[in-house]
Amino acid sequence: MIKITLPDGTVREFEKGATALDVAKSISEGLARNVLAAKVNGEVVDAFRPIDADSNLQLITWNDDEGKETMWHSSAHLLAEALERLYPGIKLGIGPPIENGFYYDVDSGDQVITEGDLINIEKKMTELARQKNQYSRKEISKSDAVAHYQVKGDEYKLDLLEGLEDGKITFYTQGNFTDLCRGPHIPNTSFIKAVKLLSLAGAYWRGDEKNKQLTRIYGITFPKAKELTEYLELLEEAKKRDHRKLGKELELFTFSQKVGQGLPLWLPKGAQLRERLENFMKKAQLEAGYLPVITPHIGSKELYVTSGHYQKYGADSFQPIHTPNENEEFLLKPMNCPHHCEIYKSKPRSYKDLPVRFAEFGTVYRYEQSGELHGLTRVRGFTQDDAHLFCRPEQVEEEFKKVIDLVLYVFKALKFEEFTAQISLRDKQDKDKYIGSDENWEKAEQAIINAVKGKSLTTVVKYGEAAFYGPKLDFMVKDALGRKWQLGTIQVDYNLPERFELEYIGSDDQRHRPVMIHRAPFGSLERFVAVLIEHCGGNFPLWLTPDQVAILPLSEKYNENCKEVLNLLNKYDIRGFVDDRNEKVGKKIRDAEIAKVPYMLIIGEKEIENDTLSVRKHGEGDIGTMKIEELSAIVYKEIKELV
Ligand SMILES: [Zn+2]
Ligand SMILES: [Zn+2]
Repeated sequence: MIKITLPDGTVREFEKGATALDVAKSISEGLARNVLAAKVNGEVVDAFRPIDADSNLQLITWNDDEGKETMWHSSAHLLAEALERLYPGIKLGIGPPIENGFYYDVDSGDQVITEGDLINIEKKMTELARQKNQYSRKEISKSDAVAHYQVKGDEYKLDLLEGLEDGKITFYTQGNFTDLCRGPHIPNTSFIKAVKLLSLAGAYWRGDEKNKQLTRIYGITFPKAKELTEYLELLEEAKKRDHRKLGKELELFTFSQKVGQGLPLWLPKGAQLRERLENFMKKAQLEAGYLPVITPHIGSKELYVTSGHYQKYGADSFQPIHTPNENEEFLLKPMNCPHHCEIYKSKPRSYKDLPVRFAEFGTVYRYEQSGELHGLTRVRGFTQDDAHLFCRPEQVEEEFKKVIDLVLYVFKALKFEEFTAQISLRDKQDKDKYIGSDENWEKAEQAIINAVKGKSLTTVVKYGEAAFYGPKLDFMVKDALGRKWQLGTIQVDYNLPERFELEYIGSDDQRHRPVMIHRAPFGSLERFVAVLIEHCGGNFPLWLTPDQVAILPLSEKYNENCKEVLNLLNKYDIRGFVDDRNEKVGKKIRDAEIAKVPYMLIIGEKEIENDTLSVRKHGEGDIGTMKIEELSAIVYKEIKELV
């Protein structure tokens, strides 16, 4: 008999060789029907794998990330099976799960697969799924595996096999299809209830342009038809909210091939929006004791050799700038930190001076591959709301608490409501990997945990995810469409103070190293604005939005009156514009709705006589007639709730 310990601590006895499915069945049949995989002593395996020794067991369902991964990986096999049926002789590359679904790279030879064929392939997949074929696992020697693919004539699998170690190779089979795979997989194909193939793309074998281009087929599957419908609706909505589309429609930013790929150009409305974000942050930072600094866009190569950034952003990034002086090289700044270290060093520091907090909206440049560029989320030049805090080890907790407050203030002001704090700590088994003393690491890790505890945040702790130079805290934010983004990073650093030999004089009159903390609540302004646009669908919070009001004269006769109203509103700190085009008011209202202007003020004879405004609210319609003072009170109240 073996002892199985469940996550809640209960221990149950089973025959040796029992599977996770057996364990699930012993709890309830209903549960067993939902088990996709199992975590045995921390490793995700097939729920049908025999367990031979006392183990900790966690049953994995669709609600777990690993459950989705197992489902989608198994669906990739199902796709390959369908393709083999429909396109005999097709050769298979790799078919992994991805964040949302899966893909398979295939070489269909002379047979061409087009978008139009996807429905047919989906049908085949559904038909095969209904057969309720078991996924089975078989260990196989390398030579047998090679022989199998030689017979089949699949050079891609043979190429993959070359990199695999004998004794660790497994085949998985469902129905008439066998794939080289390390698993794990779901118990049988009937778990796959809804199938959607989403798109086709070209993909070089092993991502190398010198290799043959294969066809990549993207798909997604669900255990319930309803979930697929919901997902497709979400995709539709995401398309509507795509920041590249809205950025253009709302005239926020543009790109020019002539300026260069991945280099955004902020248009006046976008630049003003960004400036409002910056001012909002600057004000909050001043109140939190930050000191503004400004540093240049380039730095000598030496600076980045010292910081270690040259190793990371050197050869694969923008190349050094040369000057008429030989032996003089500059780099476009990939990070602001080295400059700030030098500012710290500009004068002697005493323990009494710490913490010091240097803040800068610093623009940095990194060479992203052109294929990686995407709207504002992946660019080659971007501005960070960067700050570096230099403190004594015992101040880390307090500083983290303050930064967390700032991050939460930002989220609230921008209507992000769902987020998780993710703490990344060391892998305790592998302490040599990390720079900095054991004692300091212990202290800092505990400080982060304590700081988060005090804020009653939903928290996950990830061991082994810390950088080599320090533990960190990230905020994972869920947007309005349920997608997760990493925003707001706070990172402890023992490395740069060492490399730059930063010091302070302690109360003991001795020299000590300060702890450095990097933090950027927005991260990059470019990426943040992109996430924000998609989160709010272009309906920015009132304090941030480009135009708070659109003033719509009923006819040209009232244009001058409307301009007076705008002047008055400006005095109340309300911004907007008069739509004085020679258009019907209905058209003006429609256009203001499309431009997502929060308030529309309609002015005609009656309004002028009574000194009032007829007010429409975006997405809501008519909210009545009121005086300017009343409108400004409404606007103030709405803003006050956020900032
Ligand atoms: Zn597989
Ligand atoms: Zn930094």
